[in-house]
Amino acid sequence: MKATRLLIVNRGEIAVRIVRAAQELGLTSIVTHSEVDADSLAVTLADEAVCIGPAQAAKSYLNIDAILDAAKRVGAHAVHPGYGFLSESPEFARRVVAAGMVFVGPDAELIERMGNKAQARSTAIAAGVPVVPGSAGAVVDVQDAVVTAAEVGFPLLIKAAAGGGGRGIRSAADEAELRHQLPLAQAEAQAAFGDGAVYLERYIERARHIEVQILGDGKRAVHLFERECSLQRRRQKVFEESPSPALDETARQRLCASAVALAEYVGYVAAGTLEYLYDDDSGEFFFIEMNTRIQVEHPVTEMITGIDLVREMLRVALGEPLSLTQDAITRRGWAVEMRLNAEDPDNGFFPSLGTVERLTWPTGPGIRVDTGLYEGYRMPPYYDSLVAKLIVWDESREAALNRAARALGEFHLTGFTTTAGLHARLVQDPAVRCGDFHTATLEAWLDDPANAATDPSTRPETPAPAPQETRP
Ligand code: ADP
Ligand code: ADP
Ligand code: MG
Repeated sequence: MKATRLLIVNRGEIAVRIVRAAQELGLTSIVTHSEVDADSLAVTLADEAVCIGPAQAAKSYLNIDAILDAAKRVGAHAVHPGYGFLSESPEFARRVVAAGMVFVGPDAELIERMGNKAQARSTAIAAGVPVVPGSAGAVVDVQDAVVTAAEVGFPLLIKAAAGGGGRGIRSAADEAELRHQLPLAQAEAQAAFGDGAVYLERYIERARHIEVQILGDGKRAVHLFERECSLQRRRQKVFEESPSPALDETARQRLCASAVALAEYVGYVAAGTLEYLYDDDSGEFFFIEMNTRIQVEHPVTEMITGIDLVREMLRVALGEPLSLTQDAITRRGWAVEMRLNAEDPDNGFFPSLGTVERLTWPTGPGIRVDTGLYEGYRMPPYYDSLVAKLIVWDESREAALNRAARALGEFHLTGFTTTAGLHARLVQDPAVRCGDFHTATLEAWLDDPANAATDPSTRPETPAPAPQETRP
């Protein structure tokens, strides 16, 4: 690959992940950072770093002018946006290209078409992919919504077309609630995403979230199997795995073929994910949205296929045709990912902040850690709480869960609390062990007092842990 200077416009674990892929490809990695991220691991590992502004994301990681200025200063040839922030902004993609650089992702038109959730629904319908019953596009006003809802049926969800990360979704059990919630949803979407468009979708009860990873070069697309992401809290994924314990080979083939068909229908370029709701009982699946970027949970796919998704997306972006053929993509074993968020699961997931005092990661066979943490790192309070991902592979699902328990036992972090303790309980839970869950399972599980962590203060025989210590 020709000498290329890659600007990485993100932070945290995903910036580290992209630096590593860039270095392995022989690209020069240049990390952008805010003032408070000057001492981040990504900055330390990257070949170069450039400050793009103050801590507040609006002034740095979301500040297109500042980013393009920095890109020019450092002579960047290509820009990788990671996930979140500007990764699904058509304006950013357009302006990166207008400035003469490569955007590592689909072009602005594709992001508009598939990254906008209402438009992606219409595209899926046109491509013959089943979608959740709902409005044809965005609803105009309350009257329009009420008429549409009568056809769609209650309960339903009001979703922001530009929403993401579990935000911008409200539910309505009946017409009265719809009348009340719709204007609030529109105003909220306008304030949060700069776009007030909302659409309606029937609420599917007891569904699983199963998504398909794809890679495309504009001419053809391949799938890299599915990820099961049903264990969620507040519509955000907490624990992911691949393959899904719910699919047999026939169902898997149907789902993955649908994803490839949709990706090829739009001439998709780059790595992307098609998200579906899956009904265990009927075997029906419904497309819900596409993420036109690398996703948080991509490592489970990498673990079972042996394919480096970030490397592939960089290659395609830099003009190489997709080297992978569908036949060459096989899977082996089982992988699970545990998101470690700096939150206290025993205290309502209250944000936990602090400095990493002592840190020991699990090692040994089948273990991967993606993180920006290191001893002495002081976590800035401005950003997402995801601080690490613990990914575990083994030959079978049961072995992977046993290994996950072993890995969590080796993990020690003092300085603040993470969700590791929650995962330690989840990987031993009978429903998780059986693979018997859907998108509402984890919230019900968290509400059940039987699943509360044993409070050390009520167990006098155990010495109380040091303050702020986390030992899963
Ligand atoms: P994934 O879809 O990759 O599993 P998430 O949906 O949790 O991951 O989103 C990844 C990150 O991007 C999170 O930090 C989330 O808050 C953020 N994010 C995703 N979409 C948006 C959006 N439209 N607006 C703001 N933040 C977003
Ligand atoms: P985001 O853009 O925030 O990721 P999604 O549309 O992917 O939003 O939905 C997030 C989660 O909300 C899904 O993973 C699922 O758990 C739940 N969800 C979304 N749509 C529906 C639906 N129609 N019925 C039931 N649950 C849904
Ligand atoms: Mg989603």
